[in-house]
Amino acid sequence: MSSGWRTCSYLLAIAAGFAPFAATADEPVIDVEHYRARVEPDLATRTVRGVVSIAFAGDAKEAVFDAGELEIDSVELKGSPVPFVREGSKLRIALPERLTRRSTLQVRYHGAPRFGLEFHPDRNEIYTIFSASQWLVSVDAPSERATLDLELVLPAALVVAATGRPTSRKPAGDGRIAHRWRLTTPAPSFTYGFAAGRYTEARNATAGTRLRFLSTDLRTDELRQVFANTGDMIRFFEHRAGTEFEGDYTQVLVTRTIGQEAAGLALLSEQYGKTVLADPTAEGLIAHEIAHQWWGVSVTCKDWGHFWLNEGFATFMTAVYLGHRHGASEYVEQVEKWKARWEKLKAAGTDHPLVYSAWSNPSADDRAVVYQKGAYVLHLLRLEMGEDAFWRGIRGYTRANAGRSVDTNDFKAAMTATAGRDLTDFFARWIDGPLDTGPLKPL
Ligand SMILES: [Zn+2]
Repeated sequence: MSSGWRTCSYLLAIAAGFAPFAATADEPVIDVEHYRARVEPDLATRTVRGVVSIAFAGDAKEAVFDAGELEIDSVELKGSPVPFVREGSKLRIALPERLTRRSTLQVRYHGAPRFGLEFHPDRNEIYTIFSASQWLVSVDAPSERATLDLELVLPAALVVAATGRPTSRKPAGDGRIAHRWRLTTPAPSFTYGFAAGRYTEARNATAGTRLRFLSTDLRTDELRQVFANTGDMIRFFEHRAGTEFEGDYTQVLVTRTIGQEAAGLALLSEQYGKTVLADPTAEGLIAHEIAHQWWGVSVTCKDWGHFWLNEGFATFMTAVYLGHRHGASEYVEQVEKWKARWEKLKAAGTDHPLVYSAWSNPSADDRAVVYQKGAYVLHLLRLEMGEDAFWRGIRGYTRANAGRSVDTNDFKAAMTATAGRDLTDFFARWIDGPLDTGPLKPL
């Protein structure tokens, strides 16, 4: 098992200091419904320029978006310029009137992102690493779900993968191609992404899901070997989730990244691909990212305080898959590791509830709470409820909340419904106990 397979995390992006956060209480509430963007990255200059039309509804005099470090060139409403200010990473747009119906703002921007977009001119490769607002003016909060039409203008020699499904490909001048992709299921912007490079490509299909595997370094036969169990993983998680996977699924091996989930897309590192090639049992991170298609992309934590609903779930589900694929002892081994990590947290005095509000600068121990303790607590809940009620609860939770951003109370309600009894004590002890009150009592 690769030591790095659990490192997939938006949390790492947060830890690096470029976290998106939900609007604070005094910020106006708008609801973005759709982004239509044209994004033109330039590999040689490591810059990006773009224009995005943001369709939104809301009763507000002001619209606030995340814009990373992008320079804003103009903002228009119905073809007329509207005033705006930059405030840190926020773009605040003063609306000329209180808009109560669906409106569309058009924002033009450019910039040289220091993160969020990785440029590798030496390898002819460019790809995203979370933080969509570094290349697309948008709302970062995971509660804000929208559909996306993304046009990427890139050199003709590059192979492209992006969020959603490809819809067209047209010449865009200067030897470039405009690739259009459409995401029709509303998703939070941290699950928007793309990768482009001089990739070798292998394709496969499983029960109606089209699979693509891309890499600069590996051959097609090697790609097929690395991702051999992708179809099995998708079908397995469908069964556990109680909902079918919709759309295509593309996995790209990129120069350097943490594992990252996007809608219908996963970006993993070339090094990780080579590790799996040498040792197929290191496929845990592939499974982790696939699990995120249900727990993370489809059902998303409403704010980062409930991030364990994304990462504790993906970690737990990976172990369940590994147990199915490689034998029950593999699952038991993972549980023992989670428990040992939690024991270490307790010994260090850094244990705390899974629902944890202080994400401004999470430590490695905070991440361990969300990932390993989160997975361990799901295992304990499985023991507490028994197989039948637990999995009926998981299916009920996942089905009822597909396409929604949720918090721990949604999960609690679904599990309580199939447990047939009150789970308040379990949740208070293990999951949503008083915030930031220090160590929990051991079992
Ligand atoms: Zn993850």
